[in-house]
Amino acid sequence: THESTQVMAESELSEEIDEDIDIGFRFEDTSNIEVPKLLIDQVLGQEHAVEVVRKAAGQRRHIMMIGTPGTGKSLLAKAMAELLPKEELKDILVYPNLEDLNNPKIREVPAGKGREIVMAHKMEARKKAQARNMLMMLFVVGIIIYSYFVAQLLWGIIAGIMILMLTRQFLPKEEMMIPKLAVSNYDKEHAPYIDATGAHAGALLGDVRHDPFQSGGLETPAHDRVEAGDIHKAHKGVLFIDEINTLRLESQQSLLTALQEKEYPITGQSERSSGALVKTEPVPCDFIMVSAGNLDAVQKMHPALRSRIKGYGYEVYMRDSMADSPENRKKLARFVAQEVVRDGHIPHFDEGAVGEVIREARRRAGRKGHLTLKLRDLGGLVRVAGDIAHSEGAPITTAEHVLAAKRIARSIEQQLADSYLEQRKEYESFLRKGSAVGRVNGLAVMGGDSGIVLPIVSEVTPALSGAEGRIIATGKLKAIAKEAVQNVSAVIKNMTGTDISRHDVHIQFVGTYEGVEGDSASVSIATAVISAIERIPVDQTVAMTGSLSVRGDVLPVGGVTYKIEAAAQAGLKKVIIPKANEADVLVEKAYREKIQIIPVSSIAEVMEHSLMGPKKNTIIEKLKNITKLSFDIPEVT
Ligand code: ADP
Repeated sequence: THESTQVMAESELSEEIDEDIDIGFRFEDTSNIEVPKLLIDQVLGQEHAVEVVRKAAGQRRHIMMIGTPGTGKSLLAKAMAELLPKEELKDILVYPNLEDLNNPKIREVPAGKGREIVMAHKMEARKKAQARNMLMMLFVVGIIIYSYFVAQLLWGIIAGIMILMLTRQFLPKEEMMIPKLAVSNYDKEHAPYIDATGAHAGALLGDVRHDPFQSGGLETPAHDRVEAGDIHKAHKGVLFIDEINTLRLESQQSLLTALQEKEYPITGQSERSSGALVKTEPVPCDFIMVSAGNLDAVQKMHPALRSRIKGYGYEVYMRDSMADSPENRKKLARFVAQEVVRDGHIPHFDEGAVGEVIREARRRAGRKGHLTLKLRDLGGLVRVAGDIAHSEGAPITTAEHVLAAKRIARSIEQQLADSYLEQRKEYESFLRKGSAVGRVNGLAVMGGDSGIVLPIVSEVTPALSGAEGRIIATGKLKAIAKEAVQNVSAVIKNMTGTDISRHDVHIQFVGTYEGVEGDSASVSIATAVISAIERIPVDQTVAMTGSLSVRGDVLPVGGVTYKIEAAAQAGLKKVIIPKANEADVLVEKAYREKIQIIPVSSIAEVMEHSLMGPKKNTIIEKLKNITKLSFDIPEVT
């Protein structure tokens, strides 16, 4: 079986190359495409977000970005830092406070000055120390000479050494007075961009290190142990926090305070460390916050923080896809150029290679006439293709390299689905030919981008006398199964005269494993149940997906393309999909030839295409009368 997939992949290759993609303009390779200097001009497909970022940078407003990972949120935050004025940047120094050593002082100076100040202090300290040492040496030598004449030399040397040790202990240490440069913007090209995603409190808000030698002359002075947090490093720049809801509530609270006050003192974060005794003066932290997450993350964040950002900033939604227009294809070509330049090691792409990347963008969009904007993943494909070209010593990356990369760069989920598929074929857990009663090849999606054949079996038995019938299913299947059975129970009753509620209906995924999103299985479940009640066999060369209404209409579901590909890969001959999903089908050509796609709009049509044997037609006739749905045999794609 493995070989056959391999062979299929090969034939897929040659077919794909034949078909050219119109990129919108002609070029030799991506080295001819100019990559914009500013990051903001490199962002593609997120025009609205770009506009908001430009505006917010001018007004110094916060931004919340909501959307799928890998669509450019951190890129935009970085781009925003580039747009901020460099002139305002500051350095932050921590000075010892002689009145209260545990309350170090904070000074803000123009960028670059901090380094100078610290250096000057160091010079000064060195000079002083030298002078002091010189004096002391003279003193000690004096004592030795004196004792040579007056007393014994040995005693003189001993006295000298003791004096030396004692004075070292008690003389003020100039080094201890050198200020610490907590935040430095020396030689920075633009305002800071600090990514604080997943930062713990100490990293985010600053910390004071623990001092193991708290006295005895070996201690590090408190101000020297102060470490700036991300909020301080982002002063006058951008603080980016992805998955904002994963930040602990206390941290979110502190972040809110920092946002409001624009300054935040640094204190030791671990309670029992000596650092906890220390608390600095307030440290400036006038940053712009760019927070990000999916919709769920945003809803779960601290409400006060959310409303602060809302009140003083913008919320933008990131787009997942863009229209498949010549202009946008051109942008994708520029994207490939950008990624090649950014990587720095891979060869540029020729026109054919860019065409293949665009084809993949089309496929991954999951919507007809669209290109995906999940560009982090697409960038991954570009890099893998480039690496393959590089390892072959090719001067340029070609379509063949991209196609090879597509095979390698499969997501973990896809690889997992592959291995399940392999296992199932071995154990013959799904049938690919013949017919069976109460058994249907359902389809599901794993991890968002890979389909899998999921056989469902059903058995219907009369309920124990008097008792209400039950629906017996396991795990996640239960809820879906209940709904599916309820939805078809009216249809079943009218059709077969069987009152489902007085039967036990057993439903099972064959070889169930956790992690399958089993939605869209309701058509399969209904078919399995009807087949089980009426003892009509189901064609095992057919796979199906679809949701079901109470009236028996087949409703659209997600991931049809992946599901169809899975069915084709599994060697099935026909796949039934909701008619409403017809436009979403972007199956690779090689698969199209292997499997017949049948769009349907009612459960009667599902039966028409999946049941077998002599009893089939009477059932369908009944169904048609009951559901009173228009019943055109659909044209077959
Ligand atoms: P997110 O923060 O939304 O998870 P990133 O901004 O980290 O995604 O995107 C990762 C990488 O993917 C970027 O560094 C860039 O190379 C590429 N990328 C993602 N979205 C875009 C985009 N809209 N335009 C250009 N490149 C993008």
